[in-house]
Amino acid sequence: MNSVKGTNQPNYLPLPNRCSDDALIEMAQIVKTFKNAAGEFTALNEVTACFYEGEFVSVVGKSGSGKSTLVNMITGIDHPTSGTVRIGDAYVHALSESDMSIWRGKNLGIVFQFFQLLPTMSLLENVMLPMYLSGQYSPAEREERALSLLKLVGLEGLDDKLPAAVSGGQQQCAAIARALANDPPILIADEPTGNLDSRTAEEIYDLFAGLIDQGKTILMVTHDISLSERTTRTLLISDGELINPWVASALPHLGHSQLLWLTHNLKARQLPAGAIVPDLHSQGDWLILVAGGQLEVLDDRGGHREQPLMRLGAGNALSSLDLQASGIKQPRLRAVGEAVEFLVTEGQELKRWLNETPTNRSILQKVEQVSPLMMAGRVRDGYRGLSV
Ligand code: ADP
Ligand code: MG
Repeated sequence: MNSVKGTNQPNYLPLPNRCSDDALIEMAQIVKTFKNAAGEFTALNEVTACFYEGEFVSVVGKSGSGKSTLVNMITGIDHPTSGTVRIGDAYVHALSESDMSIWRGKNLGIVFQFFQLLPTMSLLENVMLPMYLSGQYSPAEREERALSLLKLVGLEGLDDKLPAAVSGGQQQCAAIARALANDPPILIADEPTGNLDSRTAEEIYDLFAGLIDQGKTILMVTHDISLSERTTRTLLISDGELINPWVASALPHLGHSQLLWLTHNLKARQLPAGAIVPDLHSQGDWLILVAGGQLEVLDDRGGHREQPLMRLGAGNALSSLDLQASGIKQPRLRAVGEAVEFLVTEGQELKRWLNETPTNRSILQKVEQVSPLMMAGRVRDGYRGLSV
C-alpha cells in the first residue's frame, strides 16, 4: 500500500491572510455569501488557505461546513463574493467563464463523489473527452493515452464498457483517469470515496498516493478520518472558517466548534528568553499553546518556590484547570533558553466560555492528559509528584 510521507505543519501563527509566493494555490481572504429566503448566508468567512506543490491535503468538516464551497472556489465551479484565488500565475477568480473552462481543462483534474461519467459513452470515450475539449494531443495519441490511463487505474480491458456496466469503484477509477486526461498538475476531489465501501476507498487512496509520488498536488474533501490521517496535512473547516492547525493538533479531543472558538480567542504572543508569561492570573482561567521554544511551569507555593514542574514544547497545550486539579493555583510560566512563541487566551474570555456549558469545562480539564507533554530529568520527577 502506498503511503504519503511527512507532515507539513505550517510554521505560521496565527492564521495568515496571504500565502508566500511559492504557494501553488493561494486562496486569500475568501468570503462567499449565498442569498436564501432568510437573507444572506455566509458559507466562507475570510478563508485564507495555501497549498504547495506536491502536497496531498485533505479538507475535513461537518456536512454544510463549507468544504465543497471552498474547493469550488478553486475549480471555478463557483466564484468568491470577495477575495482572490491564484493558481500558479493565474488569478482564476477573475477569469471569464470561457477563459476559466479553457484554463481548467489543462490545469485541473476534478473528481466528484458521484463520478459524473457520461452514461452513453464508453469508459474509453469518457477518458478521451477532455483531450478533445482541450484540443491537446493528436487524435491517435488521445486513444493511446486514454488506454494507458485506464490501465493505470486498474481498468485494463474494460475500455468498451458503459459506466453502468461496471461497479461504483470502477466508475470512480474511470473518473480519476478522466481527470488525468490532460495531465494536469493539480487534482481536486470532492468526497471521492463518499459513495464507496472502505476497501474501494483504500484503492482510491492508493491511486492518489501514487499520483503524489509522481509529483501531482491533490486536494481531497473527505469524511473519512482514516484517509485524512494519511494525507500530508488536514484543513479543518467549521461554519465556513478554517480552524488553526496548531490548535487542532494540540487538542485533538475537542469538537470543531470548540476548536473554532479557540482559533478566534487564542492570541499569538512572543516572550524573550527568561521572561515570565504576563497577566495569566488576572484571567481567572487560561489556556496556553506553545508554538516555538519551551516554557517551564514553575510552582510558586512556599517551600517549592520556583520549582519547575514540567516543560511545554512546540505543540503542547496546558490550561489552568489542569494545574488547579493538582492544587497549583498560581503557577508562573517562564521562557527557557530562547524566545518562545505561543498562543494564549486573554482577559476573562476563557472563564466566560468555560461557564457557558459544562462540556466546555469538562473537555478542557483533559487538555494536559491529551496534549503530549515534553518532560525531562528533574522536571519529569517534579511532575510525577502531581496527581493530574
Ligand atoms: P459541505 O460541502 O461542507 O457539506 P457546502 O460547501 O456544500 O458544505 O455548503 C456550505 C453551506 O452553504 C451550506 O449551509 C449550504 O446549504 C450552503 N450552500 C451551498 N451552496 C449553496 C447555494 N448554491 N445556495 C445557497 N446556499 C448554498
Ligand atoms: Mg460537500
